[in-house]
Amino acid sequence: MPPTTSKETIRVDAAAEEDRYSRLRLIPWWDQEKIRAAKVLVIGAGALGNEILKNLALLGFQNIVVVDLDHIETSNLSRAILFRASDVGRAKADTVAAAYEALLPEATVRPLTANVMQDCGLGLFAWADIILAGLDNREARLWINRCAWKVNRPWIDGAIEGVNGVARAFLPGQAPCYECTLGATDWAILDRRMSCNLLLHEAHTEGRVPTTPTISSIIGGIQVQEAVKLLHGMPTLASKGYIFEGVHHTSYVVNYTENPDCLSHYILENVAQIPEASSSLTLEQLRKRASADLGGEAVIEFSRDIIHKLVCPTCGAEEACFVPVGAIRYDRGRCPRDGAMRVVKTLSGYRGEPELADRSLDQLGLPLFDIFTARSVGGELGDAEISYCLAGDAPAVLGPLALGPLAAPTLSEVAP
Ligand SMILES: [Zn+2]
Ligand SMILES: [Zn+2]
Repeated sequence: MPPTTSKETIRVDAAAEEDRYSRLRLIPWWDQEKIRAAKVLVIGAGALGNEILKNLALLGFQNIVVVDLDHIETSNLSRAILFRASDVGRAKADTVAAAYEALLPEATVRPLTANVMQDCGLGLFAWADIILAGLDNREARLWINRCAWKVNRPWIDGAIEGVNGVARAFLPGQAPCYECTLGATDWAILDRRMSCNLLLHEAHTEGRVPTTPTISSIIGGIQVQEAVKLLHGMPTLASKGYIFEGVHHTSYVVNYTENPDCLSHYILENVAQIPEASSSLTLEQLRKRASADLGGEAVIEFSRDIIHKLVCPTCGAEEACFVPVGAIRYDRGRCPRDGAMRVVKTLSGYRGEPELADRSLDQLGLPLFDIFTARSVGGELGDAEISYCLAGDAPAVLGPLALGPLAAPTLSEVAP
């Protein structure tokens, strides 16, 4: 815990803490220590995120990372218990972090004002014991689902609209997953976001979904209750959805069907924590290490595709980029000289290309604290795989929470 002035003055007296949680401890299976020690990643600090965080704070969760890209608008105040009118204009993540620590001074909350798809490394997902999401779009849910699978972590989703909502839990390595639930309509909406040349058509309209604080309270409550049960080994909504319909207050549980072609069903086999920061390793250095570890020539795969060049078909001019796919808007795709729509060149990994060899891992447009997967090619071992989590980036991302233990070296051991 970081020594701050406000915290130094607080004496967390064991008896007082015993008293604080005494009603919770009356529940026969309750284990306050499990809750205290759990590491929770909360994605989204809007209407649902506020309710999720409020519940986590009241229950005594002490290790929280909260991710949100947005700043507070006046219209948020009707649905967000942790925001005050004086917070309008502030980052949502910073605001909820401060409010959480006011509710529970023993807690450490790390706010990240970030886009989860572009700015959050897989190491952050691996750090968490449990992921809670309060989002308003399928694209980010799909991304979280794939990341959670890769690093073998459970995630609990919530969605609200009007006075209706759904909560669901997706457990590590267990199908059906979120992606399995997507139908043709969902995919059509997802495809609309990205043009055929991978440039972004429009920013998503966060906060425009009609919602009420009453429905966010119900669904956020179910989500956190699922998290608590999951930590205690109790039954959960694993691969199921709890649907709440608020006009007649009816609810039911739906079972989803596994999609055998689902692209999310992939767990990284072997994740090694390495002490280096991404600024201190080049692509070729990492590839050499992987080749040695795998006993054969290795190629490196990135956690997400990056745009590395925009090439004009008319004048031939090239612009180097190194940003994640999705980070460039459609209108920026035009050539500044002649207005022609440029061709987007992407990279999904590194296979020893000389022009990329000396580029350090933090100069690729990938987030800090990411995971790089290496695969051996044409070796006697077949397609052996190892992944490297750059633990040297952890302090920059996790702040004071980096002082605690990072994820276990072999994440797949957590598999059910
Ligand atoms: Zn699936
Ligand atoms: Zn041009």
